[in-house]
Amino acid sequence: MRIKGVLVVVATLSVLAVQADAQEEQQVTITVEQVGTGTYALFGRGGNIGISAGEDGIFLVDDQFAPLTPAILEAIKRVDPGPVRFVINTHFHGDHTGGNENLGKQGALIVAHDKVRERMSVEQFNEAFNRTTPPSPKDALPVVTFGNTVGFHLNGDEIRGIHVPGAHTDGDTVIYFRKANVIHAGDLYFNERYPFIDLSAGGSVFGMIDAANLMLQLADEETAIIPGHGPVANAEELRAYRDMLATIRDRIAALIEEGKSLEEVVVAKPTEEYDEVWGNNFIKPEQMVGFVYDSLKAHKN
Ligand SMILES: [Zn+2]
Repeated sequence: MRIKGVLVVVATLSVLAVQADAQEEQQVTITVEQVGTGTYALFGRGGNIGISAGEDGIFLVDDQFAPLTPAILEAIKRVDPGPVRFVINTHFHGDHTGGNENLGKQGALIVAHDKVRERMSVEQFNEAFNRTTPPSPKDALPVVTFGNTVGFHLNGDEIRGIHVPGAHTDGDTVIYFRKANVIHAGDLYFNERYPFIDLSAGGSVFGMIDAANLMLQLADEETAIIPGHGPVANAEELRAYRDMLATIRDRIAALIEEGKSLEEVVVAKPTEEYDEVWGNNFIKPEQMVGFVYDSLKAHKN
């Protein structure tokens, strides 16, 4: 189900961008979709971007990869010519913070949860992908950090950042545009795909479910919900995602209770009924089982 009347593509442009990790040239199309009054979702490569535009300038949620900054700014300009004044990062991952350095140097104030700055400041090792990420340069680091919540009063809206502990990482923030009735979920919500849960960075399926419940408390049936990855959703779709996560967690908890090993749990296919819709993207069913299994093991200890 779509939210009536607010899904308008206002700009599409193609750019030749250098992929951040593979250093290969590829075509990236940046598209913009209006999701509420003065608020937009921007899709390119990496985490979805949220925008509030108006008389007080541009407020950005996440900024994808550094090579995409010129194309992102070009797309924003088509919506509103004002300066990018604030960037808030939903969490530290590079596909959400890669444009920080460029935008910071252009005068935007970078804001994020304390843990985002902490993690970006030092080398990170990601066990699930066996990948090491070096510390970010100083200009990419958030200048303003917060513990639990942060508020912005811009463009006639009240924008609230609410930290959710131990979910996708240990530093996730839900961004709620109260007047526009829009939520940017960051990677707390992967729409139409299983989520990545970064256990190396303090993530857990328990926090993911709590985060979905928090967003469902904020939302009504008209709220546009921008996921970190995938198309814009509504509360009904977010509810289905929450139920999927909770069902998989409960099934795997029962299997662990029976003394099953991770291999035996994978063979039992506790995600099977969801795999067709959620399991054909970035995270495969076995990986999803692994995230939940490890979350449960960590939760018990
Ligand atoms: Zn992420």
